Amino acid sequence: MNLKANESGRFSRRTKAKTQLLRLLDEKMLSVRFVAAVAGDCVLNDEDNERLSEMKKRRGDRIYVDFLFALCHKLFLPRRAQTLWHSILIHKKQLSHQLGRTVNISVATLDYLTTVEQVLEFPVLVSEPSMATVAEVAVKDDLTRLYDHTTFLEKLREEVKRFERYGHTLSVLMMDLDHFKLVNDMHGHPVGDSVLRQMSKLINQNLRSVDIAARYGGEEFAICLPQTEDRDAYFFAERLRKQTEELFNDSFQVTVSIGIASAPGDGTSAEALIQSADQALYHSKQTGRNRSTAFRDIMS
Ligand code: GH3
Ligand code: MG
Ligand code: MG
Repeated sequence: MNLKANESGRFSRRTKAKTQLLRLLDEKMLSVRFVAAVAGDCVLNDEDNERLSEMKKRRGDRIYVDFLFALCHKLFLPRRAQTLWHSILIHKKQLSHQLGRTVNISVATLDYLTTVEQVLEFPVLVSEPSMATVAEVAVKDDLTRLYDHTTFLEKLREEVKRFERYGHTLSVLMMDLDHFKLVNDMHGHPVGDSVLRQMSKLINQNLRSVDIAARYGGEEFAICLPQTEDRDAYFFAERLRKQTEELFNDSFQVTVSIGIASAPGDGTSAEALIQSADQALYHSKQTGRNRSTAFRDIMS
């Protein structure tokens, strides 16, 4: 019993950490350079200034949460973040005055949050680009560079929330390479690895910027298509399936089976959508492989 509680505690801490790291890879998030500009440490070019204004408009009071997250990767509630931000700016001024030179916003934040407020314990100094690399490694699969299983679930849950809030539909695809064991057995594991890499490249080439793709398991992939209804998701799946057939045609045959589920008809939670897509995938396998099945078609 205890072990289970510990395990789930550890699991949720890891998931939470991954969610925070994902924020670092989000192009809509602020980078430290922007925060430094707001604090008067540097000047942005016109294009970046425009981006910053757009972010401020979009985020409203939550922009202070973003400022602090960019600086120390810690999430504060909006009001607390705003108070801290203003205190840090005053602290920056005082430090600069005492030292007789400009103290930048990163140093002022570090000093304020470790000595005045004592919010950060044993902080580590890491450059923003290395932190982005760490984030990338933590949330993506090494072989294919697609999101890993846990990260996919997290991102899918976010999309489901968006669906609940705005009513936009979304679709989920589960894909599994057909008889992949044979590819390994006949051509060797390194060739199998190369097939998985080429598959992920093909998937990426077909994605829009809002779509989310993951290596869900060994030779299984999952794709979330936000704002896409079942008919369009089926066309997308069929395009991908045919392209897979053509991609490896010269050397040996590789095909893929796909299952498709769409909200709200086939499920209104991440788990339910995955389960429906999985059932549809199972149907594709049972009815001969190298095909796409929409969940609604096996239900009707
Ligand atoms: P099915 O059409 O029913 O899906 O048949 P299958 O052979 O694809 O399914 P099965 O589950 O029997 O085998 C999956 C194979 O995928 C076995 C495993 O060695 C291979 N595999 C999983 N992960 C990797 C990987 O990272 N690299 C390589 N080369 N092979 C992998
Ligand atoms: Mg499989
Ligand atoms: Mg398989």
